[in-house]
Amino acid sequence: SSNEAPPNCARHVAVIGGGLVGSLQACFLAEKGFEVELFEAKEDIRTRKYASGRSINLGLSHRGREALKLVGLEDEVIRNGAVPMHGRMIHSLSGKTSAQAYGKKGQNVLSMDRRRLNETLLTAAESYPNVKTHFRHKLVQAELDKGTIVILDRNTDREFTLRPDLIVGCDGVNSAMRAALFEYGLINYSQEYLTHGYMELHIPAKDGKFAMEANYLHVWPREPFTMIATPNPDGTFNCALFLPLEEFADIKIRGRQVCLEFFREHFPDAVTLIGEQELTESFIANRACKLMSIKCSPYHYKDKAVIIGDAAHAMVPFYGQGMNCGFEDCIVFSEALDKFDGDLAKVLPAFSEYRSPDAQAMCDLNLYNFKEMRSLVNSRWFLFRKYLDWFLQWLFPKRHIPLYTMVTFSRIRYGEVVRRWKRQTKIVNWTLFGMACLSVVVTGIFIRRFVNLE
Ligand code: FAD
Repeated sequence: SSNEAPPNCARHVAVIGGGLVGSLQACFLAEKGFEVELFEAKEDIRTRKYASGRSINLGLSHRGREALKLVGLEDEVIRNGAVPMHGRMIHSLSGKTSAQAYGKKGQNVLSMDRRRLNETLLTAAESYPNVKTHFRHKLVQAELDKGTIVILDRNTDREFTLRPDLIVGCDGVNSAMRAALFEYGLINYSQEYLTHGYMELHIPAKDGKFAMEANYLHVWPREPFTMIATPNPDGTFNCALFLPLEEFADIKIRGRQVCLEFFREHFPDAVTLIGEQELTESFIANRACKLMSIKCSPYHYKDKAVIIGDAAHAMVPFYGQGMNCGFEDCIVFSEALDKFDGDLAKVLPAFSEYRSPDAQAMCDLNLYNFKEMRSLVNSRWFLFRKYLDWFLQWLFPKRHIPLYTMVTFSRIRYGEVVRRWKRQTKIVNWTLFGMACLSVVVTGIFIRRFVNLE
């Protein structure tokens, strides 16, 4: 019967979006023998020219690397330019810096250039004979009950209709495929804007070298603001400044001098690193971008369509997991295809059911980490708890794993990560409480003895 289709039967899949997740998903599907057509609304990123020539970078960690490894791309991606970050470097207001390792020795997050990564993935997808890519081809309509999609070819300004066996929406945070799912399915959905937005700034190289220590994610925690900087292979750093959107607008209106004063007050060492003129010029010229968290479920419509990556779960960037989670979606989807022998009527619901709670847990963890990035990293209590976490991990390596390690350096399901973290926190809190009680009792006994002696 059609329900028992062999896993490698050549079926036609339309992948919508040739961003990071779409191009990787095309590779995964090609490996399974599907005939893949990838439609990307924009021009091919490999030939696109950017006015500034810069683009933000991304932290690639364990989950993303595992996905790349499965399609044989991990080494190539790293070879094409990656700077390992071993931990956070905290910049205090006085300009002092202190390093906080991410985890054990050898555990690091790779700072990658987004554009170069996307280029590598697209070229890899095109290397499969069963993948065809179409740029400047935009999905404009999807009638999911019929399984049809309408694509606008921007080169000719013509529309055409396709009826693939499966439509995979990898079209990012403003996904047209997600909108189509709303129209045809029963979708639970929530969207949350942060009052904070972000702006990109740039720290140039100093005499051709990194102006700060290279192998760290630099953080300036200044509740309610924060700034981070990540290294590029060419010796520069990309900064992301997070401020309330109103603050951005206010400073922009009040002009360069106010901008400079703001930086001198909150990020004095960054003024020197970025350069006064470059800083004020960029601040006035650059756009502050909004940050949004999106949760929805399920991710599919019958056996016809599914969404993955940011289209399914956009998250704020404070854990550096958006892309990693999207890459892990590709693994989970591929495993579901194997498990159900490619029977899409079973694969799609199983994927939604398995993945949606995990991605939702990760969306929440990101919001928690925003607090950590703004203020907690500055607190002695936070540091004490971090060291305690590592000590407990050393004592009980299988039972106690710090939160950051579980998220960034493991493939434990995100939902399970949250459950374990809550359980571990409870145990640590009770242990600390017990130790505090014990020390009060011991001190009491000691004082009584001392008083008795008198
Ligand atoms: P996208 O990269 O947005 O790609 C979607 C693609 O679909 C685009 O190419 C778009 O042109 C195309 N498209 C859209 N609509 C259509 C249509 N109708 N038809 C055809 N094509 C269409 N993640 C990490 O893992 N680590 C990090 O350190 C990290 N840092 C981040 C920092 C910032 C400031 C931000 C904003 C995000 C960060 N992320 C990070 C998240 C990461 O950028 C996203 O999770 C990732 O880009 C999602 O990939 P995607 O392919 O799902 O979506």
